[in-house]
Amino acid sequence: MKTRKRFIAGAQCPECSTTDSLRWWEVNNIEWVECVSCDFKEQRTPAVKPDQLQEQEMIGIFKPE
Ligand SMILES: [Zn+2]
Repeated sequence: MKTRKRFIAGAQCPECSTTDSLRWWEVNNIEWVECVSCDFKEQRTPAVKPDQLQEQEMIGIFKPE
């Protein structure tokens, strides 16, 4: 399996503060970010799915009186 990693232009590493050293890729709908200058690595999972957001709005509209 080949994973394509892309550099994030202008992004700064929170660990070593190096600019343009961060790159990201996606595995099973999970985004990973890593720094090539240090050992920084972070998993990025989408916090709220659009489906769940819509559902919450529906519940807000139909309030029981
Ligand atoms: Zn770094």
